[in-house]
Amino acid sequence: MRPNTAHRKNDRTMSLLHWLHDLLNFALPARCHICDASLAPHERFVCTHCLNALPRTGFHRRRLNPMEERFAGHFPFIKATGFLFYNRESPLSSLMQDLKYRKFPDIGTMLGQLAATELFPTGFFNDIELIVPMPMHFHKEARRGYNQTHYIAEGISRATSIPVSYPLKAIRGHRTQTSLSREERLRNTSGIFAVKDPALLNDKDILLVDDVCTTGATISEAGSAIIAAAPSCRIHILTIGVTF
Ligand SMILES: [Zn+2]
Repeated sequence: MRPNTAHRKNDRTMSLLHWLHDLLNFALPARCHICDASLAPHERFVCTHCLNALPRTGFHRRRLNPMEERFAGHFPFIKATGFLFYNRESPLSSLMQDLKYRKFPDIGTMLGQLAATELFPTGFFNDIELIVPMPMHFHKEARRGYNQTHYIAEGISRATSIPVSYPLKAIRGHRTQTSLSREERLRNTSGIFAVKDPALLNDKDILLVDDVCTTGATISEAGSAIIAAAPSCRIHILTIGVTF
């Protein structure tokens, strides 16, 4: 449940943006956000060729999963995977830039649906009861107009019918992580999350969702905050992109 008036205001702004977006799409043919080819009527944001070429990690099928090794020892979790390899030069990078900074939140819905549709047959979602997107600090979300991870979570929910819940809160902002060392990132993210509703999480299998995992510091901080507030919560992790 989106709890406050800021979210409602954001929703109204987003409705207007969607309307303008639809109007532009009607007037101009939609183009692939990666290769700029014209899209067929059934394609959304990315052409079929580019969609198939996005580099799947396949981590969820590996016994020694590099994503799980990244989080091991930081907080207790059940499983973790990143869906696509991500780096600044990869096609996914331009798609993520459009999702985060150029007012295309529905790219998040599309990527969430894609990830969930491909992971679903492997049993990845079998035990999951709630989808929990990583929160963004209020000021940052107000500036951007939306939290892209909410849209990714919504896409996963559409493909799996698992409900989305918002029990986490970012209680302070943190500097952008890109230029920081691992130690600096851990300090930078320390104490940024609070759990608003521990009762919602206790004794539940939840899927913690984020857009991109770089060092894992932010997700580790959220996972630690969840376990501290709701010790019997069982955490599963899925990010769209992962850097290695
Ligand atoms: Zn393309």
